[in-house]
Amino acid sequence: ETVPRRVRIDERIMSTGKVPLGLKRKGMRIVVTGGAGFVGSHLVDRLIARGDSVIVVDNFFTGRKENVMHHFNNPRFELIRHDVVEPLLLEVDQIYHLACPASPVHYKFNPVKTIKTNVVGTLNMLGLAKRVGARFLLSSTSEVYGDPLQHPQVETYWGNVNPIGVRSCYDEGKRTAETLTMDYHRGAGVEVRIARIFNTYGPRMCIDDGRVVSNFVAQALRKEAMTVYGDGKQTRSFQFVSDLVEGLMRLMEGEHVGPFNLGNPGEFTMLELAEVVQQTIDPNAKIEFRPNTEDDPHKRKPDITKAKDLLGWEPKISLQNGLPLMVNDFRQRIFGDHKEGGA
Ligand code: NAD
Ligand code: UDP
Ligand code: UDP
Repeated sequence: ETVPRRVRIDERIMSTGKVPLGLKRKGMRIVVTGGAGFVGSHLVDRLIARGDSVIVVDNFFTGRKENVMHHFNNPRFELIRHDVVEPLLLEVDQIYHLACPASPVHYKFNPVKTIKTNVVGTLNMLGLAKRVGARFLLSSTSEVYGDPLQHPQVETYWGNVNPIGVRSCYDEGKRTAETLTMDYHRGAGVEVRIARIFNTYGPRMCIDDGRVVSNFVAQALRKEAMTVYGDGKQTRSFQFVSDLVEGLMRLMEGEHVGPFNLGNPGEFTMLELAEVVQQTIDPNAKIEFRPNTEDDPHKRKPDITKAKDLLGWEPKISLQNGLPLMVNDFRQRIFGDHKEGGA
């Protein structure tokens, strides 16, 4: 039952000596859960361009049809409004499981729903992978390291997570999702991949999702002060979305389960980020200090040695080069003619 479709096709080709009608290798059938979101929609663009057939499964909590609308007339593209907390029957070769709100503002909005999405949603997609023999990739997060006591973070570090805090629905949800993924791998032989994604930015981010890059860019464009939380000395490492998508695809196609850190090791304080935004948008943009949120991790920077060695991957786009691409998209969406999706 767990023989992947590709292998089944290959076996039929070998035993009959010809390619069965309709089963020609025209690319794979791939599900992207959360494919109408920020990262997912960029991944979908790459998969479609490569010749695969893509099914996006999304409940539109934070995703938008505008992000994938440019594929609507492509017969290799399908969009299903579905919540991954409910079971789903499909026949596919690969599953990229991205469904889950990623911004703290969104995932704290309904924390129990966030846990259900991470736990029950991931369980369902693993059940689907097991039934059809599909390869499954989990988009986990650097948040599994919590407020890290090791710096930079290596995949072997087990993390420092508050189990009862306001971020726990996300951190602990993703940690459980990783556990489920490994247990389906060990117990049911499901082919799995785990990516631990660090802060990512780029075109199509929700403008008002409360994340620091989208906030600063939108604020500077609107001539509002950039809101720095706390003393602004906490650090993050910002990765441009195309680098992440390349890493996710290499991980899926490669031989290694992971987990792999996927992030840009360039580390910035929030004050330094504000400076880069000033240089990019408006040298006169003001800064305003606000109280920080609870349990905010003090620093975060990926050690990406493992991804470099085993996936041959490393990010190519610096913050200084990536930010203008996002600013163009935000400028158009905030002031422009609301043309979407092309970025
Ligand atoms: P996003 O909010 O733009 O995308 C998430 C998508 O999942 C949205 O389209 C949303 O509608 C959908 N979704 C949410 N709950 C769902 C449910 N129950 N059923 C079906 N669809 C659902 O966020 P993103 O930045 O694109 O993040 C994608 C993935 O990457 C997430 O799993 C996130 O945890 C992970 N990640 C992102 C970052 C980052 O910086 N962007 C960092 C670490 C991890
Ligand atoms: N599942 C699903 N689609 C499938 C197969 C399973 O959504 O194609 C769900 C199923 O409803 C269950 C979960 O995945 O809630 C785990 O499935 P599994 O077969 O591993 O466990 P069981 O159903 O035996 O509890
Ligand atoms: N932050 C900030 N101003 C904002 C939004 C966020 O200074 O308007 C800070 C926040 O306190 C955190 C960092 O930026 O230290 C990154 O926050 P974000 O919500 O983008 O992502 P996180 O890495 O915390 O999930």
